[in-house]
Formats: sequence, structure tokens, C-alpha cells
Amino acid sequence: MTQQLITLSNRISYLTPVGPTDRPILMSVTGDRHTLMIDSGNSKAHAELFLKTLKDTGKPLPDLTAVTHWHWDHIFGLAALSVPSIASEDTKKAMEELTDFKWDDESLDERVATGVEIQFCADAIREEFKEQRDIEVVLPSVTFEDELTVDLGGVTCVLKQVGSDHAKDSTVVYVKEEKLLFLGDVTAPLMYAPVWHFTAEETLKLLDQLDQFDADTYVISHYKPISKAEYQQEAALLRKAASLVTDYQGDLEQMKAELSSHYDRPLSEDEIEILVYFANGVA
Ligand SMILES: [Zn+2]
Repeated sequence: MTQQLITLSNRISYLTPVGPTDRPILMSVTGDRHTLMIDSGNSKAHAELFLKTLKDTGKPLPDLTAVTHWHWDHIFGLAALSVPSIASEDTKKAMEELTDFKWDDESLDERVATGVEIQFCADAIREEFKEQRDIEVVLPSVTFEDELTVDLGGVTCVLKQVGSDHAKDSTVVYVKEEKLLFLGDVTAPLMYAPVWHFTAEETLKLLDQLDQFDADTYVISHYKPISKAEYQQEAALLRKAASLVTDYQGDLEQMKAELSSHYDRPLSEDEIEILVYFANGVA
């Protein structure tokens, strides 16, 4: 699958994601003085491809990197980058847990068996690296608690740790002048668990925090940038699902019936999946 560099504005470009290897979007935000790379990629090869496509298209190379959360597909690329890297203190702590891991098949299988790793990621790691598991976890050089503002020159990026079910350390990046909110994976469920799930409490807390940002574009790492209207629709669905799971104590059939009557139409597969994740989150 070919990855493409998409130019969103004269300041912002991104490399499209890849499904089977779980490569997320990599983005560059260019100010008058500095260029920030958002997320480092799932491998050195991924990070290097991004730098090459920027270079080939005559765009400035990043002199700073920020990672959104500790998951492998967002951080393994740091090993290929020589520029300062920024992450929340919690992200660094979670990354420290990974530094001694081995990544051969046996070690991956063992961690999947003990629940430290999940099959989904082990499969994607095999797909990305094949037999060449030259993986090195490089820790971020600059850390922050809660929030950090990076002035790129005429463009301001606010890094805000919002948490989420998906990863407690999750940080979003708000590019103020461009009215763009880089969401990373915050709209995805918790995957490092026996069943993938959302909780009503974390979801509502997250959505309230995201509401503080005035954005026209929202970037979902394993999908694409979406409009404000699309984001609001997704957020409304998550809020509705959070209230349904509470009202019906996780009874999936009742949740489905109620959401379907709320929309006055049959539910889409995506909508049903979200309800399933919320039902899964009820202990
Ligand atoms: Zn993730």
C-alpha cells in the first residue's frame, strides 16, 4: 500500500496511515522558526519514510518531535530521529516499561499469553518488521506534566494530556492558529484488556476536555482528518452511548434498541461496535 504525503495547508502536511502494519498518521507543523513532527512512527523505516517524503517535496524537516502516547506504533520511530522529542511524564514512564523487552516471536507470544501484550499489536509488529526486529525504545528528551506550549514561530502548538480509556497518558496537540486538533488514538477503546472497551466515565471526561478546544479539523491517527461536523457527530454518538450504557447497565440489546429509536433508523456496523465496546466496559 502506498503512503502519501498530504498537504493540509502551507503549514501542515501528513503521511497517510497503513492498516495491516498499524502505521498511524505522522504530521508536520511548520512555523516561521521550527517544525514539529507529531508522533514518530511505528519503526525507524516509518519515520525515515516521512522525512524522505518531506525532503522530496521540498518541505522543512522537523527539528522537534512530540509523541501522543506510549503505544509502540507511535514511539518506535524515535530511534531514527536525532531531534529533541517531547512527551508527557506519564508517557515516558510507560515507555520505560518497554525498554528491556525483547521483540522476537517467542518473547511476543509470551507477553501475549501473560496479557502484557495483545495479539493485535504482536501481529502488526510482525507485519511491520518481518524478521528484522531492530527495535530500540528511545525515551523522550523533554517531558511535561498536564500541558506544554510550543511556539514554532507564528504557530502555537498546545500539548495537553487528556487521558482516555485508550491510554491514560494520551496527549492531544492543538495547533491554535490552524484550528486543528490532533487527537491521536483518544477516540479508540482500551485495547490492552481482555475485551476492548470504553467506560462512560472516562469517555465523558475526555469529551468535556476536547470541547475546550476551538477546532475546525480533527485528526484521528489511524483514520484521517475529519471536519468539525463529523467530529461533533462522533462525539454525540459517544456521549449517547455513554448515557445508554449507564441507563441500561450494559444490556447491549436494550442499548441497540434505544439508539436505533433515537436515530429513527437501523444502526450502522460502526455504531453497533461502539455500543459493544461500552457494554464490554461494564464489569
Ligand atoms: Zn494507541
